[in-house]
Amino acid sequence: MKYIISILLIIGVIIAGRFIFFSKNSPETSLEPVSQVQAKDFDREQTVDIESGMTFSDICAQVGIDHAIMLEMAEASSEVYDLAKVRVGRKMKFYFDRETGVFTKLIYPIDTEEELFVTPQEDGSFLAERKDIEYEVVVKKAEGTIDSSLYESAAEQDTDVRAIIDLAEIFAWTIDFGVGIREGDTYKFIFEERYRNGEYVMPGKILAAQFVNDGRLVEGYYFSEGQNEEGVLEDGYYNPAGESLQRIFLKNPVEFRYISSGFTTGPRYIAEFSAYTSSHRAIDYVAGTGTPVRAVGDGTVMSAGWNSGGYGNLIKIRHNETYSTNYAHLSKIYVKAGQHVTQGDVIGAVGSTGYSTGPHLHYEMVQNGTKINPLTIEFPASEGIAEDEMEEFSQAIVKLQEQLNN
Ligand SMILES: [Zn+2]
Repeated sequence: MKYIISILLIIGVIIAGRFIFFSKNSPETSLEPVSQVQAKDFDREQTVDIESGMTFSDICAQVGIDHAIMLEMAEASSEVYDLAKVRVGRKMKFYFDRETGVFTKLIYPIDTEEELFVTPQEDGSFLAERKDIEYEVVVKKAEGTIDSSLYESAAEQDTDVRAIIDLAEIFAWTIDFGVGIREGDTYKFIFEERYRNGEYVMPGKILAAQFVNDGRLVEGYYFSEGQNEEGVLEDGYYNPAGESLQRIFLKNPVEFRYISSGFTTGPRYIAEFSAYTSSHRAIDYVAGTGTPVRAVGDGTVMSAGWNSGGYGNLIKIRHNETYSTNYAHLSKIYVKAGQHVTQGDVIGAVGSTGYSTGPHLHYEMVQNGTKINPLTIEFPASEGIAEDEMEEFSQAIVKLQEQLNN
């Protein structure tokens, strides 16, 4: 009987979500490949799937490229991309003239935004360039009603979980996705989907989102103010008043069920360490084993690995001169010491390693060497939209609001 009830409960949490094509027919969102008749289409293409332990030298050998030429290409591209760092699981494409068999081009995906092109020049040298990947973009609208957590419901949905994760990131400072989500909360968002040669690749930017949380409407709109003097793109998500939705740190590093131990400076029995201590200068978030743990802010991983002092699998991240955060008892660690992480990156998974009585995340925030309570400290908001950009922003969001609500 208990078993049946739990099945009913699981069925009960399935979300009612639906996805609607929004503006599939506008010219810039066409799914047709831009042009089939390009020079490369006349070349013979040879693709190498990069396997574990493979070097650039191995890859070149596999397609019959001479060792000396391989070295020249590696040298030429060292300025823009280090070919010693090619990643397992990616594909390197080589092109050869169909008639002469002469090598004409190498293409390698550096990340989701850029590709490396290496092409032989007339003087026998090689030109290496990074080029933006041009996706075909389809704009879609999605909406849903939540009967459980956003994370759990996303798993039930026929959609890319990455789009839902992006949605949660936009509101990470304004909605508490751990304990603040209510049955019946609703969301709508307009987002881009990226295709290449007609094939779906990944979700792109979210352009607009509305979330009704416990009867309260929160809105976020993407807006770019262009590049600043240093050439850095200034963009982000803003509420209709033009205030940034981003803060320095996320409210919580994990989607949790409840907090089992709050931050205390007084005496308390610490079950996880089987001892009385003077304080528990941390937050214990109870969550299932495997629940993603996120970096609460941009930073550098100072250490990631086993801690014999009781923390089990532990990650320490330094965010800036003032703040660092620690994540303990993890079942999995996905980052390495020295790695740079971006706010919201999944760095590990909840577990019960070390001195722990059950799956939870022991989370510490350190300010100038002192452990502080992350739940009570108020962090300043990131900059809002500049006054002279407000009119343009307001006009842009009126259109997006119409699209969300039509
Ligand atoms: Zn703890």
